[in-house]
Amino acid sequence: MDQDSNTVAETSLPCVKCGNTARLQCPKCLELKLPQEGAAFCSQDCFKALWSSHKSVHLNSEVHTFRGNPQECITAALSKGWLYCLKKGQARTKQLPYFDWTGTLRPYPISGQRFVPDRIPKPDWAVDGIPKIEPVSDLQNIVEIKTPEQIERMRKTCRIAREVLDVAARAIKPGVTTDEIDELVHNATIAAGAYPSPLNYHFFPKSCCTSVNEVICHGIPDARRLEDGDIVNVDVTVYYDGVHGDLNETYFVGNVDEESQQLVRCTYECLENAISIVKPGVRFREVGEVINRHASMSKLSVVKSYCGHGIGELFHCAPNIPHYGKNKAVGVMKAGQTFTIEPMINSGVWRDRMWPDGWTAVTADGKRSAQFEHTLLVTETGVEVLTARLPSSPNVFPW
Ligand SMILES: [Zn+2]
Ligand SMILES: [Zn+2]
Repeated sequence: MDQDSNTVAETSLPCVKCGNTARLQCPKCLELKLPQEGAAFCSQDCFKALWSSHKSVHLNSEVHTFRGNPQECITAALSKGWLYCLKKGQARTKQLPYFDWTGTLRPYPISGQRFVPDRIPKPDWAVDGIPKIEPVSDLQNIVEIKTPEQIERMRKTCRIAREVLDVAARAIKPGVTTDEIDELVHNATIAAGAYPSPLNYHFFPKSCCTSVNEVICHGIPDARRLEDGDIVNVDVTVYYDGVHGDLNETYFVGNVDEESQQLVRCTYECLENAISIVKPGVRFREVGEVINRHASMSKLSVVKSYCGHGIGELFHCAPNIPHYGKNKAVGVMKAGQTFTIEPMINSGVWRDRMWPDGWTAVTADGKRSAQFEHTLLVTETGVEVLTARLPSSPNVFPW
């Protein structure tokens, strides 16, 4: 996240995150003339830490200003880029907003929001798009040690997530749209009695993320057909029995060139190497060192804007785990912690850009990016990969 904030001369407001005296004001809130309470921060760190939840304040206010004459609403929304599509969930290509696209990929229309039956227990953002417990929880600051009972629920949920991802993996081939992948993921998740966690999380319009070629992460499933030679990452998170399980893999579509094969394989190895050091007493910042070392050997770069995260009853919580070298992550691993490691590795530069839809993160130079992710449990002696491949998992990697 590269969010700049304005410095305000003097304010007696408390920082929304930590309560210290605020010195910064969210520039977007100023622009939208939103109340200053709730938009004051003491430091860039606190601003960044709260950004993912704070930004929904902007979207909410913009959505509200669009109420009224539908045609006016749509015109206003278009002039704002695609913010509207996060609410409407469709018509993304009616008019492409101006954007200096970094690569050859373009957005396609997205289908309407999929249905979740009443019997499926839902997280608190399912109805209105706004997580309520997550942003204010103590677990944003302290790393929870899970009880054996919580761990058992995490095991079950992560296994469901794995099985759902495997359904998607089996369907990858040229001609399939990422929207069709999303439909498979959605239906498999519901069939398991689970909720697809990304659905309506901060208004995300689909049930999984599909990130093609130069998309680093958070690609929105749409009507584009996968082409021979593409690479596509599918990121699945499911919510079941009160906890989340999160994993992703990058797949080959048909015949993929040598360079992309090496990128995907190296990214897979980065995650494997990182997992191999996980045990009690290891510093979280070491994860980034291991990943950076392996990526650099192949002259690949590591994305800095998106990190691994704690997970459990919350989708995203402490610890924050950067994947790049010389990071300043604090703390050491302890038995009973659960978190993800999910390195995003680029063929070219590490820098990312955001599409005007507010979600799709792409490489700044348009070159390809790959990612793999597991949800992990620190055990007394090492690590348990809660989202590990199963004997039934499809054999999609040549190594
Ligand atoms: Zn994920
Ligand atoms: Zn994740």
